[in-house]
Amino acid sequence: MVQVNDNFLKLKAGYLFPEIGRRVSAFCKANPDAAVIKLGIGDVTEPLPPAIAEAIHKAVDEMSNRETFRGYGPEQGYDFLRAAIAENDFRSRGCDVADDEIFVSDGSKCDTGNILDIFGTDNVVAITDPVYPVYVDTNVMSGRTGEADATGRYAGLVYIPVTAENDFTPALPDQKVDLIYLCFPNNPTGTVASKETLKQWVDYAKANDSIILFDAAYEAFITDPEIPHSIYEIEGARDVAIEFRSFSKNAGFTGTRCAFTVVPKGLSGKTSTGESTLIHPIWNRRHCTKFNGVSYPIQRGAEAAYSEAGKAQIGELVSFYLENARLLREGLEAAGITVYGGVNAPYVWLKTPGGLSSWDFFDRLLNRGHLVGTPGSGFGAAGEGYFRLSAFNSRANVEEAVERFAKSLG
Ligand SMILES: *Cc1c(COP(=O)(O)O)cnc(C)c1O
Repeated sequence: MVQVNDNFLKLKAGYLFPEIGRRVSAFCKANPDAAVIKLGIGDVTEPLPPAIAEAIHKAVDEMSNRETFRGYGPEQGYDFLRAAIAENDFRSRGCDVADDEIFVSDGSKCDTGNILDIFGTDNVVAITDPVYPVYVDTNVMSGRTGEADATGRYAGLVYIPVTAENDFTPALPDQKVDLIYLCFPNNPTGTVASKETLKQWVDYAKANDSIILFDAAYEAFITDPEIPHSIYEIEGARDVAIEFRSFSKNAGFTGTRCAFTVVPKGLSGKTSTGESTLIHPIWNRRHCTKFNGVSYPIQRGAEAAYSEAGKAQIGELVSFYLENARLLREGLEAAGITVYGGVNAPYVWLKTPGGLSSWDFFDRLLNRGHLVGTPGSGFGAAGEGYFRLSAFNSRANVEEAVERFAKSLG
C-alpha cells in the first residue's frame, strides 16, 4: 500500500469550526424554532463594492471577445495590479516596496501555508497563542512539529502567549527562533501592535537572523493613526520580513479570492552549507511552478479597489463593520463583560464571565441566547477562558445579538 504523509494524522481531529457546526446543528435539530445568530466564523456578509463588481463585469466582457481575450497571465500577477498595490498600499505610506516584490495570489490562507515550502524543516518556529490555526496546522503537515499535548500544543513549536496579562503584546522569546508569525490587527484577539512593539521584533529578527511572517489581512480596519499598517513602516523590516495581505476582509473577496505577498528583494536566508542566498528568487520559482495566476477579471476587480470610487466604497464597508464592532463592544461592556479588541479590528475578544471555560460559555450562549461565537481555546491553549465575536454581520443581527447576549448572562 502507498504510504501517506502521517504528519497529517498528528492534526487534532476535532478541528474548531467543524465542532462548532456539530453543536449548532444538534441545537437547531432539538430547537427548530430558534433563530440562531452566528457571530462565529470570520466571513464577510456585505456584497462587493459596486466599483469592483463593475470592473469584474467589464473584464468578463473583454474575455468574451476574440480581440480582447486573454489566456494565462503572469503567475506573479498582472503589472497593472502589482503597480497599483505597491503604490497605494506601500509607497504612498512611505514604505519602500517595488512592483516586482508583490506576488498576487488567490489567498493569504494559501500563502501563509505555502511559504513553508521554501524554508528548511529544521528552523525553529514561533507562533503567538491564541493564533490563526492555519499557521500551526501547516507546520504540522510539513513535519515541523511533534505530537500535540492535551491542551493542543505541538512539541517543537515555540508558543508566545498573548493575553490580558501582557496586554496582548507578544514578548520576545528567550531563545533563538528562526521563523516568527505575527498577525496585526490580530485574529482572534482584535488587538493591534504599536510601532514600538513591531520595532522590537524587527530588531530581534535582525539580531537573530530570523524572518518575520507578518499577516496584515486586517490592516484596513486600523483607525488609530499611530498604528502601523505594514511591517515595512518599521526601519529595517525589509531585511527581515515577508508580509501577507488580502482583499478578503476589506473588499469582500472571501468568495472571489485575491491576495498578495510581499517578498523584499534583499531578504536572505542561508543554505544547508551555510552560504547566504536570496529568498525572492526562490519564492518566485515556487510560485511560478505551483500556481498559475489569479483570474484576469478578479485582478481587474482588485485593481478597482484602488480607484477613487473603490477606495471610498471600501472605506464605507470597513466603517460599517467597525460600527458593528463598536456596538458589540459597548453592548457587552454595558452587560458587565470585560472586552478587548474591536477598535482597529472586526473582532471582539471577551473574557468569559464567572471563570467559565470557553466551550461552557459557547454552550450557554447557544442555549440561552441562540447565539454562536467562537471559543477562544480553539485558537490555542492561551485562548482558554476567552471568546471571539465577529463584527461581520448585518446591523440588525448585531443589534439583536447584543440584546440576547445581555439576557443570556443571568
Ligand atoms: C481571513 C484571514 C486571512 C485572509 O485569508 P484569504 O485566504 O486571503 O481569504 C489571512 N489571515 C488571517 C489571520 C485571516 O483571518
